[in-house]
Amino acid sequence: MLSKDLGIDLGTTNILIHVKGKGIVLNEPAVVVIDKVNKKLLAVGTEDYMSIGGNPGDVEVIYPIKDGVIADYEVTEAMLRHFIDKIGIKGFLSKPRMLISCPTNITQVEKKAIRQSAEKAGAKEVYIEEEPKVAAIGAGLNIFQPSGKMVIDIGGGTTDIAVISMGEIVTAESIKTGGNAFSEAILQYVKKKYQLLIGSKTAEEIKMKIATVYEGSRDDELTIRGRGMVDGQPQTITLHSQEIQEALKESIALIIHATKSVLERTSPELSADIIEHGIVLTGGGSLIHGLDMLLTEELNVSVTVADDPLNCVVKGTGILLARMK
Ligand code: ADP
Ligand code: MG
Repeated sequence: MLSKDLGIDLGTTNILIHVKGKGIVLNEPAVVVIDKVNKKLLAVGTEDYMSIGGNPGDVEVIYPIKDGVIADYEVTEAMLRHFIDKIGIKGFLSKPRMLISCPTNITQVEKKAIRQSAEKAGAKEVYIEEEPKVAAIGAGLNIFQPSGKMVIDIGGGTTDIAVISMGEIVTAESIKTGGNAFSEAILQYVKKKYQLLIGSKTAEEIKMKIATVYEGSRDDELTIRGRGMVDGQPQTITLHSQEIQEALKESIALIIHATKSVLERTSPELSADIIEHGIVLTGGGSLIHGLDMLLTEELNVSVTVADDPLNCVVKGTGILLARMK
């Protein structure tokens, strides 16, 4: 009897599940809604959230895996179980094996909690893998060769930088700067420069539509609305790519700095491999405009964004499971 393998990308922003033979069957924000008063779990993922409606004043929306660290692991467990249940593994012929890709910084205790919730949700065996490794595999890198490969995975909460050789992470660093920090920097910039308060949705929109991190590579504008800090009245302004580049400078500098530090700690042999193969970017945050160009220039190594960077980790879980007998 064939058992179905399940690969899970337990991201800080998005949770994706891959089923052998079916591909990606679930892709939802890693968000839960709880009742502020009695702390009850009301909904998991967006679909549920939309359907509960209700008074937004009484509910709290939380991302239980904050900055790559499990902030609330009871909620994380409930969320994980909900998503696994949702894809209907009860209908499987036999219990599936599960490979879960986790943020690199989680503790042994958290790993155990994740393992247990996967078992409770019906796993036969649970494997836990580090995200950069899985991301690299999903990006199409052959990390099992005796040659250095380098990946920078920019998620919502963290950026994980790793040099991998013969299937193992050799040098790595994880910093709490990622796509969410980019949006936050944009929000703060608009607040400071225009005395205008904008929501995080608006900041995300600016990031995707006009932002760039590479000087002169984009020249777009976007008209947005917010609330003036001085008079409290709605106000409209037009933002340009160039000023968003300014807003993102600090966050990007942190990523460049961390990457350089990883390279400095990498052996000359592996460094030579990296120069030969280049560096691959994965994760949704790597979609920020101009990052590949900027990093190529700063590091003197060719840097490219993987195909489908948001799906690299979940694809990697599928590939890894297929390799495991
Ligand atoms: P995680 O692994 O932490 O769940 P993801 O790899 O799913 O994170 O990436 C989520 C991040 O990617 C978010 O911060 C989101 O705003 C960002 N993102 C997604 N698409 C784009 C885009 N087109 N441009 C810039 N950022 C993006
Ligand atoms: Mg991720």
